[in-house]
Amino acid sequence: MGLRLYNTLARKKEEFVPLEDKNVRIYTCGPTVYGFAHIGNFRAYVFSDVLRRTLIYLDYNVTQIMNVTDVGHLTSDEDVGEDKMELTARKEGRSVWNIARFYEDFFFTDAQKLNLQRPDIICRATEHVDAMIELVKKLVEKGFTYETAQAIYFHVPLFPNYTKLSRQSLDEKIVAVREEVQEDPEKKHPADFALWFKAIRRFENHAMQWDSPWGMGFPGWHIECSAMSMKYLGETLDIHTGGIDHVPVHHTNEIAQSEAATGKRFVRYWLHNNFLRVEGGKMSKSLGNLYTLGDLEARGIKPLSYRYFFFTAAYRTTLNFTWEAVGAAQSSLNSLYKFVRQAKREGALGPEPDWAREYRDQFNKALEDDLNTPRALAAVWDLIREANRRQDYNVLSVLYDFDKILGFDLEQTPLEEELPEEYAALVAERQKAREAKDWARADELRKELEDAGILLEDRPEGTIWRRE
Ligand code: AMP
Ligand code: ZN
Repeated sequence: MGLRLYNTLARKKEEFVPLEDKNVRIYTCGPTVYGFAHIGNFRAYVFSDVLRRTLIYLDYNVTQIMNVTDVGHLTSDEDVGEDKMELTARKEGRSVWNIARFYEDFFFTDAQKLNLQRPDIICRATEHVDAMIELVKKLVEKGFTYETAQAIYFHVPLFPNYTKLSRQSLDEKIVAVREEVQEDPEKKHPADFALWFKAIRRFENHAMQWDSPWGMGFPGWHIECSAMSMKYLGETLDIHTGGIDHVPVHHTNEIAQSEAATGKRFVRYWLHNNFLRVEGGKMSKSLGNLYTLGDLEARGIKPLSYRYFFFTAAYRTTLNFTWEAVGAAQSSLNSLYKFVRQAKREGALGPEPDWAREYRDQFNKALEDDLNTPRALAAVWDLIREANRRQDYNVLSVLYDFDKILGFDLEQTPLEEELPEEYAALVAERQKAREAKDWARADELRKELEDAGILLEDRPEGTIWRRE
């Protein structure tokens, strides 16, 4: 059948054909590093990770670029408000540079815990200001811009079909923008957006600023992605990914400025993930439900269980976070590990049975159909059910292949189940009590573990445990 992907531009699933043979050039809008990435943000990156892994699995050569926005992203996606980085720096009493590196490191540590493959190039906006200035110069030369006392703007009415990605009418767009406070009286059209902010007036004390043909200043958020993607991937990219919230402003502006500059189509396939909601509602600081991966870990949810949770919904549908649902995902993943452990113990390394072919097909078809991860997971469980029914465990090679996309580290599954941390702590405490000859306490702890279904046996070589 071949890979089909839902292209936001066409509003339908399309057969995926790269521009050049089997080479795929992907740009992934990366994090703005002004705070801890929350569990919603990671939906965007787990999705782009599955896309990347699927393409590699299907024998494409992937070049994926991800940016790190460390300047220019204002508190509103339009041109109002303050630079998010500067705001955090002021709140936390640290330099913007310090903030940027700190949250960037944090992001990649969490990304690693989620087994996200590292994109081939990670580029920071602050290290590509030259490329951004060049792109703005090109737009100035081509007459798409105008200058005010405060900024260089892209003049939207000069670009035909500006709203082709969002399919909003320009009037709707103008109404949306007018709800925001206009901070530059010289702006000609409400939808015009800044390519370059000058370091004057509200940005006079902006900590990050660079010299440019228009004086000291800093780039707008949208131009960053256009400049960096085209620098590394050429003027036409195969795929551009991001969250669905980027459609009406950020990606719409990226198309306008890139295509105005090159006269070529900027992106062939626009892919957008839908949102994660928490307990049916929006996530926000004020509601206290803006969880990080660390918050999940503190409540006993392993990062890979959270990865599993993402797969329970296709990336284009909303996904609802509840503690119950991630707990269920963790149980499912544990059952998967249990099966692998059992198959490993059986020494199941014989030739892959013919009957498994069907499940490989089922899995591949699911992914080829716009990365349908719930159906791919169903194929995993159907395979396991069949293996158990036939008592034929020679399917590890199939599962390990699936794991190239699932990323659960199945091959590293230890032969012995790991005792959950809270119980391991009790076993250790009992050991200490025994060494101190405090038999009463040791018995108490043994009883406590027994009540939880963990049975202990003291052997000369040490204490072993098993489940009831
Ligand atoms: P930011 O760091 O704010 O630029 O956002 C990083 C990415 O996370 C973007 O692609 C957003 O679209 C995405 N995003 C933000 N909130 C959510 C959410 N609740 N669910 C899914 N994706 C989100
Ligand atoms: Zn972007």
